[in-house]
Amino acid sequence: MSTFEQLGLSPETLQAIYKLGFEEPTPIQKKAIPLALQGVDLIGQAPTGTGKTAAFGLPIIERIEPDSDQIQGLVVVPTRELAIQVAEELNKIGEFKRVRTLPIYGGQDMTRQIKLLKKRPQIVVGTPGRLMDHMRRRTIRLQNISIVVLDEADEMLNMGFVEDIKYILSDLPENRQTLLFSASITKAVENMSQHF
Ligand code: ADP
Ligand code: MG
Repeated sequence: MSTFEQLGLSPETLQAIYKLGFEEPTPIQKKAIPLALQGVDLIGQAPTGTGKTAAFGLPIIERIEPDSDQIQGLVVVPTRELAIQVAEELNKIGEFKRVRTLPIYGGQDMTRQIKLLKKRPQIVVGTPGRLMDHMRRRTIRLQNISIVVLDEADEMLNMGFVEDIKYILSDLPENRQTLLFSASITKAVENMSQHF
């Protein structure tokens, strides 16, 4: 499979890819997208800069029900910068399917974030601490999550987020799909993946 058309994506999503200017899927995208679209759990390893965001972003967008206003997709990332960057790419990929993605991260005003969550995003991209904050305050509803992504898993574990990630995963529906992406598969990442 060497083109985006062959990966099983919808016309709306293909349109978004063309607008982004992507001509050909990267190796991790060729491998991960067809599998993720089938709904299986997977671990994706590829170096930085090889298009891992779209490798999970395209299947997430495809699996969102755009007519539902529940949060159905969750992406957990290590840093605020990454939350903003990943949400921006997901909003571009989801433009024609009209899927709304919201980044939430520490340092941003809580009242403003709660207001934005009330606007019913279908995907949330968040850092672990702030996600847990919203979970404890019950300002985020994770009962309808059908797909969760741990992005930069190696970085998150390096930063000491292992217990936070377990806490977040333990609160999600058990029948969800789980994707883990990482530049390196360390022992800690392997242990983490046992928790799927
Ligand atoms: P990673 O998460 O693997 O470090 P990113 O997902 O951030 O990499 O992608 C790196 C850059 O490559 C981004 O600017 C992204 O928009 C671009 N990109 C991703 N996939 C493709 C593609 N198939 N064709 C061209 N550019 C791409
Ligand atoms: Mg990345």
